[in-house]
Amino acid sequence: MRSFDVPVFYKSPLISTIKEARKIRDPRKKDFAPTVLDFGPIRFKLARHFGFCYGVEQAVEIAYKALDENPGKRIFLLSEMIHNPDVNNDLQERGIRYLRTTKGEQLISFDELTPQDVVITPAFGTSVEIAAELKERNIDTLSYDTTCPFVEKVWKRSVQLGKKDYSIVVHGKRYHEETRATFSHAQQDAPVVVVLNMEEAEDLAKVIRGEASTEFFYERFKERYSEGFSPERDLQRIGVVNQTTMLASETAAIAEHLRQAVITRYGNDNLSDHFANTNDTLCYATNENQTSAKALVESGADVALVIGGYNSSNTSHLVELCEEHMPTYFINNKSSIHSLTHIEHFDLHTKAVRSTENWWPQKDSVDVVLTAGASCPDVLLDEVARKLLSWFPDARDEEEVLSEFG
Ligand code: SF4
Repeated sequence: MRSFDVPVFYKSPLISTIKEARKIRDPRKKDFAPTVLDFGPIRFKLARHFGFCYGVEQAVEIAYKALDENPGKRIFLLSEMIHNPDVNNDLQERGIRYLRTTKGEQLISFDELTPQDVVITPAFGTSVEIAAELKERNIDTLSYDTTCPFVEKVWKRSVQLGKKDYSIVVHGKRYHEETRATFSHAQQDAPVVVVLNMEEAEDLAKVIRGEASTEFFYERFKERYSEGFSPERDLQRIGVVNQTTMLASETAAIAEHLRQAVITRYGNDNLSDHFANTNDTLCYATNENQTSAKALVESGADVALVIGGYNSSNTSHLVELCEEHMPTYFINNKSSIHSLTHIEHFDLHTKAVRSTENWWPQKDSVDVVLTAGASCPDVLLDEVARKLLSWFPDARDEEEVLSEFG
């Protein structure tokens, strides 16, 4: 797979070295067992795959290239490039400005743009409507388009299915940038409905099986179906795609649940006339990261530190996974850890940042799961590891530990 020119300050002596060593030892990516970095009083446990994925590395490379190639020009991002505050702050400090918030609110009117401006499309892609608005103003959206090819694959598959008269069920968060973009592209050729989770999938299944009314569908999926969607007509032939950062296992379960509903309604004969197989649209990085994270948490630890943007969907899933097995702290970066007794972290359940005292386990040697979402630079993990190690003067030297992976 292609490698990207990510700015050197995002790389890290510790984590990137380990990743490289694992890549060399296991080029076919068959071993999902975690790596253990034994510093003595702290043993860091790292997932086999985590951090920057293909799409994020590509987006970072293109955004910094846009800065290098356009000195003196105004450079805008349609919205946050990826869901990581450190990456986004760095780009802003270098002069890049955001046109919209991640929720879709306009920060700078498109009318203020001129054809001389540089506009970068984020990794999530953008909607057909926004692309058209920019085209009308002669704004170039192609030179610095960082839309991830795996997101585009979902769009292309949706359009193909739409042309064969299938409707598209999107497993995603309706107002996440990527789902907004996928919804917009898919609805060009197909009726679309978005489901958030298995509970909603079951409600959709009831409509498919004929156990719930049209009115129920319109109420339950309000603002989440495309214009003119007719549940009676448009749920006869369906295909399921996902927001690529949703839990792949949940998408697979939802697809299977809807497939069973279709079988109940239409029988097993000619199933492909009613249900399209879309397994090939799941993002490889999400799959690898989620499989590795599962192997990591199942190997056990005393505490987990998950690093990433609080609005990052894939990082939130990692947090949920860790929380099932151990005390877990979702942090932005090293500044969230004030001391071994005080940490500031994001609570997914209350959606608020909170402080916790006495968070560090009282043991001679503490096993720490250290992991991050697909939009987090490795260097942030190094910084967290080093901050923790600085409070343990008897910890082994970094070079000595790394030499074991040489
Ligand atoms: S998680 Fe997958 S789809 Fe999303 S940006 Fe990364 S590679 Fe692309």
